[in-house]
Amino acid sequence: MSSNKNPLEKILSLIPFPSRSAKNLGTFSTTHMMSNAVQIFNHYSAFNAVDSCAYPEFTHMEQECGKFFLELFHAKHHDDFRYFTTSGSSEALFMSLIFMKYYWKINNKNTQGKPNFVIGTNGHTAWHKATSYLDIELRQINVHPQHLYLDEKHILENIDNNTIGIGCTLGATTTLNFDEVQKINHTLEKYQTEKNSFIPIHVDAASGGLVAPFVNANIIWDFRLHHVVSINVSSHKFGMIYPSLGWLCVRSEISSEELQHESHYLGKSIKRYPIQFSHSGSHLATQYYYVKSLGFEGYQKAIKQLFVMQQLLLTELKKFEQIKIITPNETASLPGIVFTVESVKAQHHLAGLASYLAANGWHLPTFHLPRPADDTMAARIVIRQGFNESLMGELVNVLKDYFATQAE
Ligand SMILES: *Cc1c(COP(=O)(O)O)cnc(C)c1O
Repeated sequence: MSSNKNPLEKILSLIPFPSRSAKNLGTFSTTHMMSNAVQIFNHYSAFNAVDSCAYPEFTHMEQECGKFFLELFHAKHHDDFRYFTTSGSSEALFMSLIFMKYYWKINNKNTQGKPNFVIGTNGHTAWHKATSYLDIELRQINVHPQHLYLDEKHILENIDNNTIGIGCTLGATTTLNFDEVQKINHTLEKYQTEKNSFIPIHVDAASGGLVAPFVNANIIWDFRLHHVVSINVSSHKFGMIYPSLGWLCVRSEISSEELQHESHYLGKSIKRYPIQFSHSGSHLATQYYYVKSLGFEGYQKAIKQLFVMQQLLLTELKKFEQIKIITPNETASLPGIVFTVESVKAQHHLAGLASYLAANGWHLPTFHLPRPADDTMAARIVIRQGFNESLMGELVNVLKDYFATQAE
């Protein structure tokens, strides 16, 4: 039978759409988009967004969306900032390092030293890649042993004249927690007063940039802080757009125009910062649609609903005595749950649970927590759009089955 399938049917049958992506418990990427957004997404897929000569509407869309993000991140005078789209947060982090390295270089013309950059052990792998490509020493500071975020305690002993910046994470991949950006900013202000040396902060808000502004009004982490020079966010995470689209917002004084490159072959002069040239019009058009139709209130409503689901699932998971919740703990975090499995019985291991879930169509990623908690293996459930009560009910039933078979 199956040999009669045409090539398209063969490929489609490999992917049981769409339940397989909805049942990916660990991904931050959007797996569910509203149907009118899908329409816009599909319509614009034939358009290359870089070609603003042929399609000037993309310039308008990028400006309107950029302003939305500047507002969201409390950029006071928009003229003092730049913004642009990227393929995702990895590219945005790359660009932020290029800016910080350049800024350090022009302010330290006579230095012989190698530039260094500081992150927590919870920092994303994209930092490792970008610092190695750009010949920057990467310094990693252990996260707080209980809260698992980067705080200000060990910053001073890890910075010097060759530190081009500090990378803070708003919503770490392994723990979902937010770093203490405000306290780190304060430490750098004191350092500046004493040493007359300005060290910038880049906030990697790949996930948190479209979460914190809607639910954590009390946390100050963005351009209200003097040392925060750039912020990235991935729209394909809590921005509810299919992969992949990212944004980088940066203070103008850090992003020298000399780093822009000009091209003429599309019909007029186009000057750009990002590494990518051609990119899909689908993502920018969908972002524009959300900015105009959802706006702040619409996004806020959607994000708040994720936290309602998080609490429901938390209540269910707490009923399993073998499950130990790691986050949410008492600090702010993304909508999701990080947990581990503990039991006197050796077979109650996380790996066993993950493979049982896999056999039932669910994907649960397991990984080591960041140093110094790296002895602990944990698993992550990210609560995204599309995670509803019926899906949750299915998941809880599989968990019950697993722990029941293990108890026998
Ligand atoms: C996802 C993520 C990245 C990488 O972003 P992409 O958009 O996948 O390139 C970087 N940092 C953090 C904290 C992330 O969650």
